[in-house]
Amino acid sequence: MKQEIFVYCIGTAGSGKSTLTACMQQWCQDRGLDAIIVNLDPGAENLPYEPDVDIRDWISLREVMEANKLGPNGAQVACADMIALNTEEVKTSINSFKADYILLDTPGQLELFVFREAGKFTVKFLSPEKSIICYLLDPMLAKTASGFVSQLLLAITTNMRMNQPQINILSKADLLSKKEQGLIQRWSGDPEEILEALYKEEPSMHRELSEQVLHLIKNVGGYTRLIPTSKKNFFGIEDIYTDIQHQFTG
Ligand code: GDP
Repeated sequence: MKQEIFVYCIGTAGSGKSTLTACMQQWCQDRGLDAIIVNLDPGAENLPYEPDVDIRDWISLREVMEANKLGPNGAQVACADMIALNTEEVKTSINSFKADYILLDTPGQLELFVFREAGKFTVKFLSPEKSIICYLLDPMLAKTASGFVSQLLLAITTNMRMNQPQINILSKADLLSKKEQGLIQRWSGDPEEILEALYKEEPSMHRELSEQVLHLIKNVGGYTRLIPTSKKNFFGIEDIYTDIQHQFTG
């Protein structure tokens, strides 16, 4: 009996979604686990993996630009919406592999998948029961206290929109010093510490706003464990795998 767990990598542009997707597949294959990759980004170029299912087989960013006389941004939005029109074909293609793990790489810009209805629809359509989001926090944007809080808010927004189990990941951890990693981990566990860091970063910070935002993050579960990962030596992938197993097999 195949597990058929759908794992979506979601994050801001350049946060490392495609790289993590590739690493997860390689990690699985090295352990004899059956994992396929689905590319859901119609505008993807130079992917670090060979997709098993590729939305570009049905939607071409260039063709959409030419046919509708759209610029790259308008065409990206149109293409993101068109994904929903091709979910039947994508599902049939995924099913033909009968894989345990279906790793889905989402469009470069987070808002194209998370904020538009097509993304939510796609997740529900492909597997309403066994989907999990890997939300990537980009370490370059999470190094400052205000940057970290903004990233957490995006993680919460993603959680609210997608309404699926979610693992928060600190990607590209090798780009951070041990000290920076430790600081971010402390911020992710302690609202008081982040509040202090916010005021230190910007003494004129709107205090009431900051406190309310942190209150919100604390109350809605933004303070979850943050799994650091890196493409170097598959760092952190085992932790992601363990979390996925806990989620679906208890
Ligand atoms: P995406 O736009 O979110 O899919 O991000 P990519 O996977 O394309 O990665 C963006 C850039 O970050 C690329 O140049 C990657 O090589 C680099 N990158 C991704 N993961 C890592 C990592 O773990 N460590 C380092 N040092 N660079 C990474």
